[in-house]
Amino acid sequence: MKPLVLIVEDEAALVTMLRYNLEKEGFDVCTAADGEEALIQIAERKPDVVLLDWMLPLVSGIEVCRQIRRAPASRTLPIIMLTARGEEGDRVRGLNSGADDYIVKPFSPAELIARLRAVMRRAQPAGAEEVLRFADVGVDLVAHRVTRDGRPIHLGPTEFRLLRFLMQHPGRVFSRELLLDHVWGHDVYVEVRTVDVHIRRLRKALNAGKAVDLVRTVRAAGYALDAPG
Ligand code: CA
Repeated sequence: MKPLVLIVEDEAALVTMLRYNLEKEGFDVCTAADGEEALIQIAERKPDVVLLDWMLPLVSGIEVCRQIRRAPASRTLPIIMLTARGEEGDRVRGLNSGADDYIVKPFSPAELIARLRAVMRRAQPAGAEEVLRFADVGVDLVAHRVTRDGRPIHLGPTEFRLLRFLMQHPGRVFSRELLLDHVWGHDVYVEVRTVDVHIRRLRKALNAGKAVDLVRTVRAAGYALDAPG
């Protein structure tokens, strides 16, 4: 699964250059020319990281960054601000608005890609770890063992992949279609309702006893892993 980068930039030439370099390095790319479109793309495409230009029409990159941070589903989405400004005050403002990193134009593609990989690594330290944890659930990625409150939970292979994926993105809502893409794979033909079946099995296994339900159903939208309250 290639990581998806959302480029938010109104200069077509720069978008073309970024897209070319990112695709060459194994990223998938989607784009938005302004903040409003960026928020729509984030909701629909669930990018793994955002490259956000400071100078955008209508709403500034700084404000877009704040809006991304305000939405629960994108609160932890890694953001790198792109800017022509290079003053220390700007850097501080960019980082204060919630950006994870800040890169001044002109920059080399190699530098940008190194920064992208760094923020993605920091945002998902889980990917590098052997045990994912969320609330009282632990998923041992090496031994393929799942526990809740220390007790072993037995899951089928699909439920295991589903839980692993949700635990890698806690709090984010995924549509059934996106879950199919990420958990079953792009090339597999499965009905979207299959997702509901496996979510039901996952819930049943995870919530056995009187444990709190950590899988949240978002009506007409999909599912998320969430700790209530
Ligand atoms: Ca711009």
